[in-house]
Amino acid sequence: MKTWIIAAETGVGTLADQARELGGTVTAVTVGNLPIAGVDETIAIELEATAPAEVAAPSVAAAIDAEPGDVVLAPNRPAERVLAGAVAAKLGAPVLTSVKSLQAGSAQVSKAGGISLDNVTFDGTVVAILDGGVQPAGEVPEAVTFGAKDYTATISAIEQAEVESVNLGSAERVVAAGRGFKEQDDLQLASDLAEAIGGEVACSRPLSEGLGWMQRDQYVGVSGQVIAPELYFAIGISGQVHHTAGILESGTIVAINNDETATMFEDSDYGIVGDLYEVIPQIVAALNE
Ligand SMILES: Cc1cc2nc3c(=O)[nH]c(=O)nc-3n(C[C@H](O)[C@H](O)[C@H](O)COP(=O)(O)OP(=O)(O)OC[C@H]3O[C@@H](n4cnc5c(N)ncnc54)[C@H](O)[C@@H]3O)c2cc1C
Repeated sequence: MKTWIIAAETGVGTLADQARELGGTVTAVTVGNLPIAGVDETIAIELEATAPAEVAAPSVAAAIDAEPGDVVLAPNRPAERVLAGAVAAKLGAPVLTSVKSLQAGSAQVSKAGGISLDNVTFDGTVVAILDGGVQPAGEVPEAVTFGAKDYTATISAIEQAEVESVNLGSAERVVAAGRGFKEQDDLQLASDLAEAIGGEVACSRPLSEGLGWMQRDQYVGVSGQVIAPELYFAIGISGQVHHTAGILESGTIVAINNDETATMFEDSDYGIVGDLYEVIPQIVAALNE
């Protein structure tokens, strides 16, 4: 039995550890020559610097020569989801999404954004998409270059989107803003705190989907991102289950809310009852001292 890992970028994550627990040889198949720690071998697929990782999907599928019983793991990120789909199609294997844990022949997958868990059994090859990523730190095997299969996609134009790229799934610290923020410009407060703690900024759904103040891939919850950072700040967020389903596996949760009855406090390790406009500047000032 072999375990394969698909990676289009590195970051904080434990996929290699999970692969080791499954047993057998662990092979990373990377788009670009990525340093992946904790695996036995790496097969790197070369790609033009300007090409998006997704165009390498046929090459990734060709490189993964999985046999019945093998498991293919992919981080839950846009590019890797596309690559995993191509691999599953080639292998005729099922894709398991929202995987929380995995053993040989069975997996626990979360339903409705983590509100409940289901046990799934499988035989044959399976492709599993998990939260997390692959670590560049530690012992890294030298990559073997895979002869890239010609891809048919060509880049006809590149338009730079006026948005910042966020990688919430890999972030160790996240500052999430909710409707307690009165104006879009006030989100600078959340950015200041995120910068002070070395984290990313996220939000509740209304800020992305209703108000359009933040990107869609920045909201957390049952219909957004499910994340598990070491530290999660929920600021001006009431704590409805649709939101908290996306963060309950975080290490430490801190809530800031001016309503002492907010349900967010029930799911938090630490709570500050206060006006975010007063509390955040004080925390940032203390951190920057
Ligand atoms: C099918 C479905 C799926 C959904 N999926 C998601 C999802 O994935 N993610 C998600 O987030 N939501 C989701 N929702 C929406 C969810 O139910 C809530 O409506 C939403 O999470 C509320 O966002 P909020 O907490 O930012 O806003 P609110 O509920 O309006 O809460 C704002 C909070 O800010 C506090 N506040 C106000 N002023 C201040 C201040 N000055 N200082 C400090 N605190 C202040 C208030 O006391 C309040 O608790 C979904 C809903 C449905 C029906």
